[in-house]
Amino acid sequence: KGAGEPRVITLMPGDGIGPEISMAVIKILEAAKTPLIFEPVDVTPVLNSQGMTSVPEQVIESMNRTKVGLKGPLMTPVGTGFRSLNLTLRQLFNLYANIRPCRSLPGVETVYGDVDIVTIRENTEGEYSGIEHTLVNGVVQSIKLITRNASLRVAEYTFQYALAMKRKKVTAVAESQVMRMSDGLFLRCVREMAAKYKSKMDQAGIKYEESTMTTVCLNIVQDPKRYDMLVLPNLYGDIISDTCAGLIGGLGLTPSGNVGTNGAIFESVHGTAPDIAGKDLANPTALLLSSVMMLHYIGLHEHAERIEKAVLKTIRDDNIRTMDLGGKAKCSEYTDALIKNLK
Ligand code: NAD
Repeated sequence: KGAGEPRVITLMPGDGIGPEISMAVIKILEAAKTPLIFEPVDVTPVLNSQGMTSVPEQVIESMNRTKVGLKGPLMTPVGTGFRSLNLTLRQLFNLYANIRPCRSLPGVETVYGDVDIVTIRENTEGEYSGIEHTLVNGVVQSIKLITRNASLRVAEYTFQYALAMKRKKVTAVAESQVMRMSDGLFLRCVREMAAKYKSKMDQAGIKYEESTMTTVCLNIVQDPKRYDMLVLPNLYGDIISDTCAGLIGGLGLTPSGNVGTNGAIFESVHGTAPDIAGKDLANPTALLLSSVMMLHYIGLHEHAERIEKAVLKTIRDDNIRTMDLGGKAKCSEYTDALIKNLK
């Protein structure tokens, strides 16, 4: 592919507010002249040949070709036989690392002031492997699976991200004193990768430390500034990344990325917001910031920075906010104001 040729991105608008916020994001990306072409696909659940819910073939075909997806929230159907489509996508494309930058937006007041923490969570195993069985009536067992392979690759991604994004410190988190084998293996793998990247990290002035989950839980709510980047096994990562979202004022502003061996999908952390869907009231910022992560991922750093600055200017300086941030702007009004701030 020649330089300057637009990159094709698979767009999964999603359900509820998904289509509205996706349209807003695309409008902003187009106004910022990002060299992208969006290929929309519908992620309505279908039954596969084994009678399990899966995503339509078109989604798989598109993602296999483009390798990068931007995704709105999906409604999780309630009832037996339904697997979460988010989980299905994660497994289909082997999205092994979940990245969540949580940065407080100046002007969105929280008790914690400036928070800027990136969590990187192992996304495929641990307690969430889904391996559970009944031993005898009334006794169940759930397997916590940790592999060297998965731990090393999430660790490697963490150090590469730290270097690319010029972070300050990486904290590896596990309970290796208690779960000596499983968490022990995870921690040893991160340590091994830290050694491999040591000279580059030293050169960039990025520190490496290790801690326990309990210590991080205590410290992060007392003084989140102690942390810069955290790398964690699946379950701990799930808990701490939601905690971090809480520190910056909720899930509404939080973007995320799922990166894997077969591509990456970027998505907002919030759900489909059925209560406000179709009313032009949704806040597109989380999906927009997810698209900013996507732009960094594909190397369009300048476009990413320009859009992020416009977000800050619109919310902080111009005080144009959607209802969830205490403002009166409709989704479309906020979008247009933000486009004016793209310089
Ligand atoms: P939700 O995040 O959709 O809504 C919670 C509250 O936050 C609602 O009051 C909603 O109006 C508000 N909200 C959420 N996003 C907003 C935005 N961008 N702007 C303004 N307000 C916003 O959570 P829920 O109600 O628990 O879930 C609804 C559906 O979404 C469920 O079917 C759930 O399974 C699904 N869901 C999907 C994802 C995903 O696809 N990644 C994540 C979470 C929930």
